[in-house]
Amino acid sequence: MGGPLLRVENLVKHFPVKGALFSREVDQVRAVDGVSFCIDAGETLGLVGESGCGKSTTGRCILRLTEPTSGEVWFDGRNVTAMDAQALRLVRRDMQIIFQDPYASLNPRMTVGAIVGEALTIHKLANNAQEYDDRVVHLLETVGLHADHMRRYPHEFSGGQRQRIGIARALAVSPKLIVCDEPVSALDVSVQAQVINLLEDLQQKFNLTYLFVAHDLSVVEHISTRVVVMYLGRIVEIATARELYTTPKHPYTEALLSAAPIPDPQVKRKRIVLEGDVPNPMRPPSGCHFHPRCPRATERCASEAPLLREIAPGRVSACHFSA
Ligand code: SF4
Repeated sequence: MGGPLLRVENLVKHFPVKGALFSREVDQVRAVDGVSFCIDAGETLGLVGESGCGKSTTGRCILRLTEPTSGEVWFDGRNVTAMDAQALRLVRRDMQIIFQDPYASLNPRMTVGAIVGEALTIHKLANNAQEYDDRVVHLLETVGLHADHMRRYPHEFSGGQRQRIGIARALAVSPKLIVCDEPVSALDVSVQAQVINLLEDLQQKFNLTYLFVAHDLSVVEHISTRVVVMYLGRIVEIATARELYTTPKHPYTEALLSAAPIPDPQVKRKRIVLEGDVPNPMRPPSGCHFHPRCPRATERCASEAPLLREIAPGRVSACHFSA
């Protein structure tokens, strides 16, 4: 592993909420609220949290598919957030994304060959038709598909095969970083394992770096080097995958972990049931955002926001009582 390939500094994304009358902004959804982390070259960083916690928005802001409100994203020593359109187009060769829904992310009117080869055309990566065809066939075979799939359409494939098409499309430009935005959430459990194994094989083969976004801790456990846990737009814990799963420090991580299935029937874990739903991100609770649902909350938690602080080398937690 080398140094950090990606550095996210104090990233903020607030979405305006408009009123019906004259479409004036009446409020803001604080989807991402001051998020900072690094990813080393060759690493897989898991980014987890419940639906609506801001993890997918964070992934999209890194590629500037969604424009951040403030903060900086540094990729390979370059400030992505300060780039003009031309520089951004070039850097997107190195930063790709795989989307959650393989059904919605592929154009149904394009052949698989055209979908996978589109980026080759945009970035002028093939000198002639034969080279283009050879590259597309090679990409399809790399993800476990066949050359004759090239002339077929997305609807002719299963969910797992469509996700493989999405992966081949991302690989076409030989990226360094891939944001995997819930890439297996829409797939059956048996197919999930196949796609995760494929992503791991490709990481070894092409020295890829992944940001792996998921709502299910059991999915990221297997693939991640380190894990970032988010709640209501903020990071609440960062740890290595092993530390996080064996000794979670933040009560929210403990609760998420207690709900995750355990493959070994000998291992027992006490189930922590979180009260209530995720609060409205337009009006997050005072103090610690997690306090209305936290089984360990005290009076202090409702009035004082905990800092995200280092509790051991490389381990951070945003809880007054983590030690
Ligand atoms: Fe729970 Fe308080 Fe810690 Fe927040 S600061 S996680 S409410 S114990």
